[in-house]
Amino acid sequence: MTQAITGKSIRKPSPPWTSADVRTDFPILTSTDRPVAYLDNAATSQKPDAVIAATARYYKSMNANIHRGVYRLSVEATEAYESARAKIAAFIGAPHPREVIFTRGCTEAINLVAMTWGLQNLKAGSTIVLTQMEHHSNIVPWQMVAARTGARIVVTPVSPQGELDLAAYERLVADGAALVAVTHISNVLGTINPVAELAQIAHRHGALILLDGAQSVAHMPVNIAELGCDFFAFSGHKMCGPTGIGALWARGDLLDAMPPYQGGGDMISTVSFEGSTWNIVPHKFEAGTPDIAGAIGLSAAVDYLSRLEMARIAAVEADLLASAEKALRTIPGLRIIGEARQKASVISFLLDGIHPHDIGTILDQEHVAVRTGHHCCQPLMDYYHIPATARASLAFYNTPADIDALVSGLHRVIEVFR
Ligand code: PLP
Repeated sequence: MTQAITGKSIRKPSPPWTSADVRTDFPILTSTDRPVAYLDNAATSQKPDAVIAATARYYKSMNANIHRGVYRLSVEATEAYESARAKIAAFIGAPHPREVIFTRGCTEAINLVAMTWGLQNLKAGSTIVLTQMEHHSNIVPWQMVAARTGARIVVTPVSPQGELDLAAYERLVADGAALVAVTHISNVLGTINPVAELAQIAHRHGALILLDGAQSVAHMPVNIAELGCDFFAFSGHKMCGPTGIGALWARGDLLDAMPPYQGGGDMISTVSFEGSTWNIVPHKFEAGTPDIAGAIGLSAAVDYLSRLEMARIAAVEADLLASAEKALRTIPGLRIIGEARQKASVISFLLDGIHPHDIGTILDQEHVAVRTGHHCCQPLMDYYHIPATARASLAFYNTPADIDALVSGLHRVIEVFR
């Protein structure tokens, strides 16, 4: 038994734990009035009791604004917020907590880099290398910066299986790229990109590399130092934490040189009408009152995931993925989009002659939650010449029964539409 931030003792399941062992930690999954096979984990994860309790405990017993108060509540809230930063830094193998900037999520983390480092360093003729499989969050901020600086965007192609063309990538980077921005794991294809290799190639040619870790931090061990990236962006809500909180990790020397992102309280050192000076990193990038409860909730999520151990989570999800893909391949007319050799637990698929939205609607009637649409990856849909897919994305708390529900739901879809 270990003592959690919630003050409540939390069961550490004995290894090797199974999905069924941990499922009971998630109240929404065990609700009997609204049972659901929740297979939309790439959009957002469910929240364990420990995270819900930690957030509530902050509001019930510690609520005060941080960094400015000398009284007990404010000091406690500040300590909890800053210790969340330290915990998150350790979780991703960041060399120093000050290099972790709290943001609203992955999207804001990427925008922060684009609007600070990007506007400061990119100019007419600079090249930004993206990939065909990027989420809109890792495309649009760069288009906005490109429009303001005259930088150009080039795109690394993917193969029909959903793997990056590494030779083409190296050619694009070698052609004088300033920045590479690439997703660690594709939210559509499930492809786990060889990001350490991509980082080495980027650095060999003098480019920096930003990794979009939205889909990786919750599904595999992530160690920034080993990946060798310069920026790493992720969201708390996809890793069992609350919505509205996430983080950017960036190399300390880059953060020191970058201008502030937003102006306001806490990010300044001095203010006068003649001009202002900036606070030190990380505060320089955290203007205004942050999501204190969110940071504390995310810290509890990190505790929770750490107790389960990320390597075990990855192994459990790999087994689930293998059995789900095997079962789906028995369904007539089903085509999986994304068959990379290194794949995380995301399965996009099509059913011959049936629109993905119809698949999603019938599955919902069968109490199976999957996502349908372009998944914020329209350029990838264009590459496959499809408007949308249905997507089942698994987490460690999904059980074989969830996969059975998906498969029988899909047979129901076929009955209705064929
Ligand atoms: N990048 C990827 C690969 C994603 O899957 C997502 C969300 O689905 C995002 C970025 C954006 O994350 P958020 O909306 O939490 O900022």
